[in-house]
Amino acid sequence: MLFKELAGYYEELEAVSSRLTMVGILSEMFKASELDEIDKIIYMTEGVLAPPFEGVESGVAEKTMIDAIAMATGHSKADVENEYRASGDIGLSAMAASRKSRLKRIAQKQFTVREIYASMRKIATISGVGSKLSKVRLLADMISSSSPAEAKYIARYPLGQLRLGVGDATILEALSLMATGERKSKADLEGAFNICSDLGAVGLVLRKEGMEGIRKFKVSLFKPIRPQLAERLPTAEEIMKRMGGKAAVEQKYDGFRCQVHKKGKTVKIYSRRLEETTQMFPEVIAAAIHDLDAESIIFEGEALAYNDVTGEFLPFQETIQRKRKHGIKAMSESMPLRLFAFDLMYMEGKDYMGIPYSGRRAALERALRNSKTIIPSGRIIATSPGELERFFESSIEEGLEGIVAKDLSSAYTAGARKFSWIKMKRSYKGELSDTVDLVIVGYYLGRGSRAEFGFGGLLCAAYNKSRDVFETVSRIGTGFTEKQLSELKERLEKIRSSGKPVRVDSILKPDFWVEPKYVVVVRADEITRSPTHTCGMRRQGEGGGIGYALRFPRLVGDETIRSDKGAEEATTTEEIVEMFSIQKHLSIAR
Ligand code: AMP
Repeated sequence: MLFKELAGYYEELEAVSSRLTMVGILSEMFKASELDEIDKIIYMTEGVLAPPFEGVESGVAEKTMIDAIAMATGHSKADVENEYRASGDIGLSAMAASRKSRLKRIAQKQFTVREIYASMRKIATISGVGSKLSKVRLLADMISSSSPAEAKYIARYPLGQLRLGVGDATILEALSLMATGERKSKADLEGAFNICSDLGAVGLVLRKEGMEGIRKFKVSLFKPIRPQLAERLPTAEEIMKRMGGKAAVEQKYDGFRCQVHKKGKTVKIYSRRLEETTQMFPEVIAAAIHDLDAESIIFEGEALAYNDVTGEFLPFQETIQRKRKHGIKAMSESMPLRLFAFDLMYMEGKDYMGIPYSGRRAALERALRNSKTIIPSGRIIATSPGELERFFESSIEEGLEGIVAKDLSSAYTAGARKFSWIKMKRSYKGELSDTVDLVIVGYYLGRGSRAEFGFGGLLCAAYNKSRDVFETVSRIGTGFTEKQLSELKERLEKIRSSGKPVRVDSILKPDFWVEPKYVVVVRADEITRSPTHTCGMRRQGEGGGIGYALRFPRLVGDETIRSDKGAEEATTTEEIVEMFSIQKHLSIAR
């Protein structure tokens, strides 16, 4: 496909806001791709160079792009920069500069999608002395021999600002439409995506082998599986009832979720967001290589700092210091981690995900029996609410977060939140509800000194998975620390959007919209019904109703912005509705 054609589809996408129409355009675009380029087109449409676990950054900063636009069009850097500051959109600046180019236009080259993608990958590998100039030259080459419309996307893509409003769920639906003429095969495609976390790879198999290839899709080492998530219930009685009177009850550790992949002496670890975090855990890597009774394995656990002498778990704030890139080796000596393993997905060539929990757990325990660093999570088999309750209380006393009850006969369901795992945390039992993870979609200036400073409050949203949009649920205007204020201001200014981002559903209008990207942890007193927030207000294809909102929301957590969650991992609308019913139920019980 020529890049010109791809840019044409992107222009069409930008012009529409109906999701159904977008799915249709995307499906036509995928259909028009050649056999082995659909993966590249998918990555480009997602605004990335590769799936997240490969950690490939574009390596292009705003300044580099401004220089490239100037070099390609003969305008001064200052002019390009001014234009960019005014429009807030690097793509529009590139398009405008290219239209009014002062240089004699070189004969336009018809770049293919493959060529543009290859150049971007090449740019991502350039580093060291003189690297900026080399990147500027390569980018300028692409811009100067393209049309203004192509220049717009060439400028936006490496800065991660494509602004197409297309999420993973929409891409999956479009792939389904392409392959079967219907949107309902999305579930099978999502199944394949859940076990490889790579939309490009899913698209490629679909294009080459059709739906049959997708149904045969297999788990593979070093492609992370999308993690299973837990539902919530407020009481031990309800959990045991739901589990049918018998369940495994595991301790819930508040550390880093780690998915460990091992083959021989190669070990990689992936976070809950499926980013590679291998370098953070040298002692876990060593243990995985030397202690495990398995040559090849994929398993999951929670890594936590643990004091060997006192037997105490250290708080998350201390464990999280591992995020720093430096001093990890020293920390692995002064504050070693334990990995509390809780599930097994693959071992010695065999897929364990379909095997019932008890079988998975037994095999996992066998594989770990010689390790002191990677140990099975603490657990009991409970047959009554009383037993569950006692285990919960003793876990809290040990400094843990709570428990996760697990259905003994359930499979591992990648990427899904199901009642086969039910969590119960300390916070449900008191007056306060659990925290929620919300996506920032806009911000307010506030009044007085806050307005002068340039930041006064947030507009936050939950993720509606079935509509693939972000629905507002809370305005947060108080309780920020100085550090949070300046961090939020600085980071949000960089992702401002000139209008409401396509995937945001909001009645309220903040002073500035931002691309849905950052997730914050929010605690509130309760959830109320609300006519001004869109969370839970509309169902797919239906009009408005009444939404949900948080009462007395404030930011909590050790990081202002959660680094382990992306926008689509935020609390979902469904969860908010569910938390509302738990809360109603608790207040009746009280
Ligand atoms: P939450 O983040 O509150 O939704 O709780 C789910 C998270 O708890 C999972 O993503 C894991 O990172 C973590 N976790 C800690 N201990 C366990 C356990 N024993 N089983 C499953 N998940 C656990």
